[in-house]
Amino acid sequence: MPVIEPALRACPILGEAITVEYAKNDRTGKHAYLTPLVHADACTGCGLCEKACVTDKASIFVLPKEVAMGKAGSYYIKGWDKSDEKRLEEASSIKSTTEISKEKAIDSLNSNMEDLY
Ligand code: SF4
Repeated sequence: MPVIEPALRACPILGEAITVEYAKNDRTGKHAYLTPLVHADACTGCGLCEKACVTDKASIFVLPKEVAMGKAGSYYIKGWDKSDEKRLEEASSIKSTTEISKEKAIDSLNSNMEDLY
């Protein structure tokens, strides 16, 4: 039984959400690599494969979709999106009130770090 089999069998949509890619091991010429592939378009993110993994520390990690897909923060402005451009026009700034913020950036970088506190 390959070490990945429990994780594969745990998947409720095996064959769609997770498949195995077979590749010849050219170094030995006798063995194969069995590489599990998760297909983001079919995976539900249930995490059953991670729970079933037999390695001490699970070899597969199921992340929340917004983390895995790298969702941009709300502060990110897409230059090609007209509605985002409008958000930029309407944005307000907050003036810093620390002593060091009164200096020019280059001066503050060269100043004594005690000015920060
Ligand atoms: S997280 Fe995705 S790949 Fe893993 S068991 Fe669930 S559906 Fe299958």
